[in-house]
Amino acid sequence: PVLPAAPASRRSRQARITWGSRVVTVGGDAPVRVQSMTNTDTEDPIATAIQCKELAQAGSEVVRITVNTPEAAKQVPYIREQLDRMGVDVPLVGDFHYNGHRLLTEFPDCAQALSKYRINPGNVGKGDKRDRQFGQMIEAAMRWDKPVRIGVNWGSLDQELLATLMDENHARAEPWDARSVMYEALITSAIESARRAEAMGMPGHQIILSCKVSGVQDLISVYRELARRCDYPLHLGLTEAGMATKGTVASSVALGILLQEGIGDTIRVSLTPQPGESRTQEVVIASEILQALGLRVFVPSVTACPGCGRTTSTTFQELAKQIDDHLRANMPLWRTKYPGVEKLRVAVMGCIVNGPGESKHADIGISLPGTGEAPAAPVFIDGQKALTLRGENIAAEFHKIVENYIEK
Ligand code: SF4
Repeated sequence: PVLPAAPASRRSRQARITWGSRVVTVGGDAPVRVQSMTNTDTEDPIATAIQCKELAQAGSEVVRITVNTPEAAKQVPYIREQLDRMGVDVPLVGDFHYNGHRLLTEFPDCAQALSKYRINPGNVGKGDKRDRQFGQMIEAAMRWDKPVRIGVNWGSLDQELLATLMDENHARAEPWDARSVMYEALITSAIESARRAEAMGMPGHQIILSCKVSGVQDLISVYRELARRCDYPLHLGLTEAGMATKGTVASSVALGILLQEGIGDTIRVSLTPQPGESRTQEVVIASEILQALGLRVFVPSVTACPGCGRTTSTTFQELAKQIDDHLRANMPLWRTKYPGVEKLRVAVMGCIVNGPGESKHADIGISLPGTGEAPAAPVFIDGQKALTLRGENIAAEFHKIVENYIEK
């Protein structure tokens, strides 16, 4: 028997998000895309353009900005212009709630400058207005030839639809539990909205769906069912995932399980940044999730042991961090200069127990001396012991060896 080496894949239709000559495909045979969202006030175009640039440089392939007021809508073309001027061609997505139908109709330059519209069917309007206002947004998407994401969120779920489904549930011989009705409402809201858009003439492959919730088990259940019922590309994200460690762990677990099952064509990690913390952290984590699953490769990987009582100094931890920082910092330049450099695997290990073995699995590895070992650090290149470093300058010499390997 052979263990499954790669995640399963669910073949969805393929959406195209474009700006100029930049095309970001989502779904189908495209790689799982990383996206993020700004937290600047869109009415401040310079701050927003700067953050879009930072997110794009960190690896966000699509950046979403909120478009919540007429003034924000007016600034969108200017934000786009600033990015173009800086040579940043990342597609921008407009996030609309409540008034998207008006903003997309009254500000055609905004509608044109955006590359995709996010529509929340839970707040496009109530009663008679709901279909009409939803229709206006779909018409704008068709007029400007933009894809849409129909993004349902349990924090803003369509209450009329939920009430209808609850009434239907009461009439069942064996009613479902409340959670299942809520799941059903999320999925129904997304799929029925997509079908309505298609009935208006919107191409089905240009519709991406999401059903975000903030609980890990809820997200997994909802997306499994959503994936089973349709072939629209799916945007994955644990909404309101929380801060730092909790948000990172919860997102990694939820997205990891779904991606392993082949569910998810684009992802966002929604973290609550602390004051002064960079927004780009969520892009780094999203990229690391995909890389850890073996779905994509963005940066060289540095394997390092945790260290233990056999570790004689902190040298190996410092060296591992230095190498990791150095490789990441140079990636923007190296990616074009040394194609394939992102696949490099480096190992920095603390002693002979796992050091040589792990180093041989890497492209380049070093095993620093642990307690009781001779003061020597064997270096392995392409699985073979190549040389042994000694003395005070082991870190600097190993850096040089890694750089030479990359150049070669
Ligand atoms: Fe400890 Fe050596 Fe294992 Fe590192 S490789 S954790 S130093 S035993």
